Amino acid sequence: MSERRVLVVEDEQTIAESIATRLRAEGFEVELAGDGPSAVAAFVARPHDLVVLDIMLPGFDGLEVCRRLQAERAVPVLMLTARDAETDLLVGLAVGADDYLTKPFSMRELVARTHALLRRVDRATELASAPPPEEKSLTLDDVEISLTERRVRVTGEEVHLTRTEFDLLVCLMSRPRAVLPRERLLSAVWGWTDSAGSRTVDSHIKALRRKLGGDRIRTVHGVGYAWETAR
Ligand code: CA
Repeated sequence: MSERRVLVVEDEQTIAESIATRLRAEGFEVELAGDGPSAVAAFVARPHDLVVLDIMLPGFDGLEVCRRLQAERAVPVLMLTARDAETDLLVGLAVGADDYLTKPFSMRELVARTHALLRRVDRATELASAPPPEEKSLTLDDVEISLTERRVRVTGEEVHLTRTEFDLLVCLMSRPRAVLPRERLLSAVWGWTDSAGSRTVDSHIKALRRKLGGDRIRTVHGVGYAWETAR
């Protein structure tokens, strides 16, 4: 496989350099951009396999960068956020970021997330290139998922989900009423084996609830989540 190309968008030079150094050591080809406009220009010139994107940037911010990149071509995005920037985070997930790290983070964690994200994308690509299965769908109450088309309808209306939200929804709806611990969701959807990212699950559930509407996902405090259904 040819070298994976990563675009690192961060205006703080020291952080940008240490991320680049670490990712290069992992065998990635890394390109740096210090502001919104140059990040978009670099991506348009030659799209990358993954983008590490800081939210606070000069020019226009990371959320706008994410929106523009996704409009150009679907790309996995690992967002870097300031502590407690919950609103940024939710908007980020809505504009197509797949995962996020809260500053300060360790380089080890960044590398782990990068690999996990690329594995998920590879898995999705494999599935997409496999011979077409017969139409598979999953319907509970008024929520209908087409697994082959990766589309979701709520009472007949299409709802647009990010890749992560979709995988999470499939996971929950495949086991109606069962309580799925956060750790299990992390490993099934994100491919992580540690439980350090429970907040990631919470944020994506929040985004999913907002998009689907209604009281469909039950929080089981201290454990995880369950899909609520009459059936
Ligand atoms: Ca910054």
